[in-house]
Amino acid sequence: MHELESVAFSVLETVAADPVGYAVEWKRRTGRPVVGSFPMNFPSEIVHATGALPVIVQESRTPITEGRSLLPEFYCSYTRSVADQAAVGELDVFDAFVLADHCVQLLGAADVIRWAKPEKPMHFAQFISSMDDPWSGAQVRDKVASLRVEVEEIVGVTVTPEALRASIRAFNVNRHLLRRFYELRKTGRLRVSARQLQVLVKSSMVMEITEHTELLESILSGLELPSEPPDSLVRLHLSGHFCAPPRPELLDLIEECGVLVVNDDLYHGTRYISTDVPEDGDPFDALATWYLDRNVSAPCGTRVQRNVDWDSYLVDSLDDSGADGVITLMAKFCEPLMLYYPELRKVLDARDIPVLLIETEHEGLAAESIRTRVETFVERIRRQKLKVPTLA
Ligand code: SF4
Repeated sequence: MHELESVAFSVLETVAADPVGYAVEWKRRTGRPVVGSFPMNFPSEIVHATGALPVIVQESRTPITEGRSLLPEFYCSYTRSVADQAAVGELDVFDAFVLADHCVQLLGAADVIRWAKPEKPMHFAQFISSMDDPWSGAQVRDKVASLRVEVEEIVGVTVTPEALRASIRAFNVNRHLLRRFYELRKTGRLRVSARQLQVLVKSSMVMEITEHTELLESILSGLELPSEPPDSLVRLHLSGHFCAPPRPELLDLIEECGVLVVNDDLYHGTRYISTDVPEDGDPFDALATWYLDRNVSAPCGTRVQRNVDWDSYLVDSLDDSGADGVITLMAKFCEPLMLYYPELRKVLDARDIPVLLIETEHEGLAAESIRTRVETFVERIRRQKLKVPTLA
């Protein structure tokens, strides 16, 4: 699968591999501040509207050293990596940190940053996790208002409605282009690997958004369409993995087992790009609406909403993409996903949808054992597809 390869794509690959390196270079080039935010619901547009660079802090590939003693071993790899990066100075490029929610472990990581970098401003706007209570909208609007004040104070620039509207438009354009790659893949007109899609989305979390958009446009204009995926491949949906991207080697390994990934609900995937911010009306209200809408577009195990659930969304998404089964990728000790997974599994089992759970860790990849499990899973799906119904 080489159709994306181009100079523009290799720039994005470099940024995805070294997000902090990009932030350092951007800061040197522009002289403006860099603000780190955390997954999964912070509206980057509000930082962008000040002229600062919003960067979603990524899990580092380096082994966790100092971080081991700062958070318990039973915290997820993302939070332990963030704690480690703070302790060893890898986050020094950031002038401040902001977060909008969301799980207890992430709060632990934020506390470590406060401890390791007391001089760096840190603002925590806890967005309500119950999405459809009568007071949810008002509470989120309040939190957006407090974010505005904090971000203005951190950067020393007022966020005007006009600047915010322009930033909203810029992020919407970028999301639209990223969704285009997903649509092309789903239709089979573009052969793009899960690793490549991760590069596209991850780099968008880091780069100045208009710069990223220009590179996406360049890649799209150079694509030669259409192409058809081989029929022999089993079509799968990748699910789960909040906050940090699954290792690219794991994605390659899965696809090497005769798999075509046709869709996902990963945070470094469709979850991140699922929802646009409304462009009409008050732009600050629009950020609140975006937060409430995105749990409908891509329901999340960390949010609660009576009329929305992740399992129905997943089943609908499989109908849409024609996926034959699901691989759930779960970062070890990710409590929200661990707690939600049994519900997801129950619904998929009831519908006879094959599902495989793979647990991931920061250090190491049990490649051969995972390969055997994926191959067995793929074989099971192939047999299931060939099964001739028996007469009663
Ligand atoms: S949601 Fe999961 S991966 Fe994200 S910080 Fe919480 S425990 Fe870690």
